Amino acid sequence: MIDDKLQTVLDQVLQRNPGEPEFHQAVREVLESLGRVVAKRPDYLDQALIERICEPERQIIFRVPWVDDKGQVQINRGFRVQFNSALGPYKGGIRFHPSVNIGIIKFLGFEQTFKNALTGMPIGGGKGGSDFDPRGRSDGEVMRFCQSFMTELHRHIGEYTDVPAGDIGVGGREIGYMFGQYKRLTNRYEAGVLTGKALFNGGSRARKEATGYGNTYFVQAMLGTRNESFDGKKVVVSGSGNVAIYSVEKAQAFGGKVIAVSDSSGYIVDEAGIELDLLKQVKEVRRARIDEYLQLKGESRGAYFIKAGEGSIWDVPCDVAMPSATQNELTGHDARTLVANKVIAVGEGANMPSTPDAVRTFQAAGVMFAPGKAANAGGVATSALEMQQNASRDSWSFEQTESRLAEIMRTIHDTCARTAEEYGAPGDYVLGANIAGFVRVAESMRELGV
Ligand code: GLU
Repeated sequence: MIDDKLQTVLDQVLQRNPGEPEFHQAVREVLESLGRVVAKRPDYLDQALIERICEPERQIIFRVPWVDDKGQVQINRGFRVQFNSALGPYKGGIRFHPSVNIGIIKFLGFEQTFKNALTGMPIGGGKGGSDFDPRGRSDGEVMRFCQSFMTELHRHIGEYTDVPAGDIGVGGREIGYMFGQYKRLTNRYEAGVLTGKALFNGGSRARKEATGYGNTYFVQAMLGTRNESFDGKKVVVSGSGNVAIYSVEKAQAFGGKVIAVSDSSGYIVDEAGIELDLLKQVKEVRRARIDEYLQLKGESRGAYFIKAGEGSIWDVPCDVAMPSATQNELTGHDARTLVANKVIAVGEGANMPSTPDAVRTFQAAGVMFAPGKAANAGGVATSALEMQQNASRDSWSFEQTESRLAEIMRTIHDTCARTAEEYGAPGDYVLGANIAGFVRVAESMRELGV
């Protein structure tokens, strides 16, 4: 449902941002949800306000020169999109991946704005990254790249301005190198300028686990609305970064049986249940390809590897699907396969991993569907907890941090469910998340004036 006012804004966004399909997709989805707000409260959302929310406050693009191990100078492009600061300092991760371009960062910044609003914490939305490919690069190369990236970025960020964190390709190691460079350049131990730091550098316990745990808490709450739970369910988790690994860990703790995980080289199926220690060994310690899991396991009875391009992880029948790799990884075709195989719930660990066709397919089939901007908000929420700890020069226990995370995820779930009901679409978490997130940002922007 999209009325004239929203269509005009959408047309403007498409015109102003040519060649950015992911950004268009993200904006279209939110504006479609807002149709219900316009219908119910015609005077509430004025066109200029919607237009303002769809335009980033600031976009920074910069050169990142660095020297590789052969002594050759390499050039990459760096980005930071400071999307919206109505609710607090810009907040959002940094992604290092060859697919990164301004359109991808804009879509992520836009999503982040509403995700962050949903957490109820005082954080605005932003996102950054580079087309640098860390794969196959030595530790020294990664360090020099991160230092060069921060040499430019440092003048645009700060505890009260913009607080980056990790995303695809950026974990504790990269955050450490960037924090070190920020400290060197500014002569300030400003712990609150970055989140996802190591524990002894002002990091928070449970931050690494938070996105995966959070998605699992969200799905557990969603299952609960139909008197279901993870217990005894077959689960498939795509990806094998932090989000995926800690979704596997928590889903198993809740009694689920996780039978498949993937990376860009393909996916493995282990009918006996993924062995978490082996997965961590392959991905966190060895930083290797996923098929090494089979070698470490020693015998492969019931376990096998399918190369990328020769099949989709979504062909593996499951009750709960947790796409936790990257955007648009789960297509309409995949969704139809999952529905035919009787999937009951989907929780998006990644940002926008399901295509619009896939989302429609799940919803039409009555599958419980948790959109990323709500379900994966546990990561950034715990980043906000890290900022709290930094501001009070404190360090909380794992239990304390996780219990705050669990409470936040429960509140996000309930807010989305309640909003969907209020707007006449009970059980539609996409609608609930989009409206609740948008309204929070809009209210705040209205109060701040133009
Ligand atoms: N990259 C994560 C996300 O997509 C976390 C961002 C953060 O902690 O700032 O939400």
